[in-house]
Amino acid sequence: MKIKINENYRSVGKSYLFSEIASRVAKFTAAHPEARMIRLGIGDVTLPLTPAVTSAMSAAVSEMAEKSTFRGYAPEFGYDFLLEAIKRRYERFGVALGTSEIFVSDGAKSDVGNITELFGDNTVLIPDPVYPVYLDSNLMAGRRVEFLPATEENGFLPMPDGIRGEGYIIYICSPNNPTGAVYDREMLAAWVDFANRTGSLIIFDAAYEAYISDGCPHSIYEIEGARACAVEICSLSKDAGFTGTRCSWTVVPSELTAGGMSLCEMWGRRQATKFNGVPYVVQRGAEAALSDTGREECLGLVKYYMENATRLASVLRKRGVTFTGGVSSPYIWLKCTGTGSSWEFFDRLLTEANIVGTPGAGFGKCGEGYFRLTAFGSHEATDEAAARLRTFF
Ligand code: PLP
Repeated sequence: MKIKINENYRSVGKSYLFSEIASRVAKFTAAHPEARMIRLGIGDVTLPLTPAVTSAMSAAVSEMAEKSTFRGYAPEFGYDFLLEAIKRRYERFGVALGTSEIFVSDGAKSDVGNITELFGDNTVLIPDPVYPVYLDSNLMAGRRVEFLPATEENGFLPMPDGIRGEGYIIYICSPNNPTGAVYDREMLAAWVDFANRTGSLIIFDAAYEAYISDGCPHSIYEIEGARACAVEICSLSKDAGFTGTRCSWTVVPSELTAGGMSLCEMWGRRQATKFNGVPYVVQRGAEAALSDTGREECLGLVKYYMENATRLASVLRKRGVTFTGGVSSPYIWLKCTGTGSSWEFFDRLLTEANIVGTPGAGFGKCGEGYFRLTAFGSHEATDEAAARLRTFF
């Protein structure tokens, strides 16, 4: 073809992590068909949608089957009933938002990637290790990226100390995927202060907010001054089990302006142009998940997964394995034992314990030497994994 391509895609490389894991597991199981594999690798949930959600969705399906209640295109930014439900959710954290600042979407992944379209040639600060979408979507846009190393020394929570310059786009993921580390109030206040002083924008990914159990902020807007410097992206994937159902939202406060433009209006313009809304049935399910009953049910799902995290953490602690996470996060981030890379550790755990995890190197350079286990399995599989880990370490 004679078209010109986006040259930036050359620097993104192949999506390597989960396909490489799948290929190593397939090779192993072909050679050992008797092996009973336990998969603690991919961050997908396993428990079904809750009763409040499914009955709301069933009722919505029935409405769609009647001429008088059928709905076509949804409002671009979400039905009022869902915007109001999201607004009430923030009120539980003491955060007041206008519904015009909330944009319903089909997933945090889409919004995390798409929001890069609003920005010009800024330097982007990205924690390392972290959810790979932040880096890849900025590489696709040809941006300069600087990494914020998350190490054992800083408790996997990089801070802005010593960063010079201004006008950064800063990604913060708390609780973090993959380390499970969570910023406390004081730390987030330091980031908000840095962003306001340097005219920078924080993109706060709160996808794992429901897992916080230790008083850390659930929303960046719990921090004074955050409305002037932060966008927040949140999702029902990990707490309400919506990974396959798809519903999330992005908050863009009306105060955010750059280059004389309102970011809230720009995001609205972007979404209205390129996105045609989340299905009515799904939005009714999301509304139910955010209701008092739905919330209680979803916290039951979170509790179930966190029991798994506790069981895995207990074995690691007894075996003297260094790890973080597993307290306010469904992820356990452990330091690889023995010699070799995190991929070599992956192979050892696969062959000796028949457990599939995720090598830390897949989440960034600083992830090398570490390994992620997820708590999203069943109690039975997790108990079996815990027993095998007891022998393995
Ligand atoms: N943000 C983080 C930190 C994640 O780990 C994930 C999924 O693993 C997402 C966003 C994507 O969420 P969604 O399912 O809403 O696209």
